Amino acid sequence: MLGVEGFDGGPRSVIVVGAGIVGLSTAWFLQERGVEVTVVDRRGVAAGASWGNAGWVSPALTIPLNQPSVLAYGLRSLADPAAPLHIPLRADARLLAFLARFAANCRRSSWDRAVQANVPFNEECLEAFDVLTGNGVDVPTTDGPITAAFTSERQAAHLLDELRRLQQAGQPVSFSHLTSEKLTEQVPLASSAIRAAINIEGQRFVDPGRFTHALAHAVVARGASIHTMDVVDVVPAPGGVRVHSDDGAPLSADAVVLATGAWLSRLAGRWVRTPVRAGRGYSFTVPTERPVPAPIYLPEVRVACTPYRGGLRVAGTMEFRGPDDPAVPARIEAIVASTSPLLDGLRWQERTDEWVGPRPVTTDGRPLIGAVTNGVYVAGGHGMWGLAHGPITGRLLAEQITTGKQPAALRAVDPLR
Ligand SMILES: Cc1cc2nc3c(=O)[nH]c(=O)nc-3n(C[C@H](O)[C@H](O)[C@H](O)COP(=O)(O)OP(=O)(O)OC[C@H]3O[C@@H](n4cnc5c(N)ncnc54)[C@H](O)[C@@H]3O)c2cc1C
Repeated sequence: MLGVEGFDGGPRSVIVVGAGIVGLSTAWFLQERGVEVTVVDRRGVAAGASWGNAGWVSPALTIPLNQPSVLAYGLRSLADPAAPLHIPLRADARLLAFLARFAANCRRSSWDRAVQANVPFNEECLEAFDVLTGNGVDVPTTDGPITAAFTSERQAAHLLDELRRLQQAGQPVSFSHLTSEKLTEQVPLASSAIRAAINIEGQRFVDPGRFTHALAHAVVARGASIHTMDVVDVVPAPGGVRVHSDDGAPLSADAVVLATGAWLSRLAGRWVRTPVRAGRGYSFTVPTERPVPAPIYLPEVRVACTPYRGGLRVAGTMEFRGPDDPAVPARIEAIVASTSPLLDGLRWQERTDEWVGPRPVTTDGRPLIGAVTNGVYVAGGHGMWGLAHGPITGRLLAEQITTGKQPAALRAVDPLR
């Protein structure tokens, strides 16, 4: 433990609602500061987006979703049921209101603000992982470049443009073009359709489900308990906060952290005006004929591939549906159909682990991290990058909760903006 003293009257006990990467990281860093923690989740550890994601801890690629080009892309996608971006034609009024606000933020100034908000998180995100893996979270992160592969130089130019814009907005990015020999070495599965490739250096990847479970074990080993509880309400009370479920007695503590991912607005909506919706993604594991050394990014079909348990985890799609809606098998088929011409040596028919999970997407591309009222904090809305930014979020929020001071990095993501 760091043995950091809390401020006078700072919380000694905290309930964390949500046992995903964000909630458990917050729990771990609160413990580091001497706080007694209870974690509750309606389903258990890594029951949301933290299990089947692509596992990239890739600060250089944390491109916010609200890019100006997403608007035109979204409109084109409406006509194509197999497109990687899917919006149900019969969207409910709330989803339409969300999408209208999101569309209003698909402009350069708003995107730049989201990029700049990410910069301090990116500066420390790898180190925050190292703190966890160096102190009992027993799952390694793996160094590796991420190779983006394209069917033409013209397609590669789009990503190069985005990476340069990230650099202009203050995000350090190191990248290089790959020669065809290097491409064969780096991406042995690349098919003959791949004609250009860019290496994004200095990134990492991890098995996200294993990592989140190891983090839960570490939090329990340091004295926390994890309960199954579907929280329906959070009530600030004199001297603390009460957390209610539909059955059973409420839990009480000095403070609560709501880290419920794509479900965040349900509990936090009365305080937080920026809504969170589920941008659902799908993934599955495919056996490969050759080993894959590092992640592969296929921007043209919006698919991320990561070495996973001897095969390849293939992840993609952004589908705006309820986080608890059943999976739509056609989305997986669409990923296979779009990706198979680009990669050779994958045994697509033998795929396993088919999964759907909800990215917690905000309307302005920035997460929501900080205090919302006395004793109530939120941590969520990280969209496509909640794994990479989970540990550093936990570290920064634990600092705010125990010192009573908002770290500079959390100003741009204040949930009451
Ligand atoms: C296909 C895909 C690929 C991705 N790839 C990457 C990647 O490579 N790198 C990256 O950084 N990010 C990636 N992401 C995004 C990342 O997975 C998420 O941003 C991140 O997991 C969010 O973590 P979280 O802890 O906020 O939410 P979650 O992991 O969803 O956890 C929220 C938890 O809250 C619980 N909960 C909800 N409501 C309640 C309630 N009322 N009471 C009690 N518990 C409740 C849920 O059961 C859940 O366990 C990807 C996402 C997807 C879908």
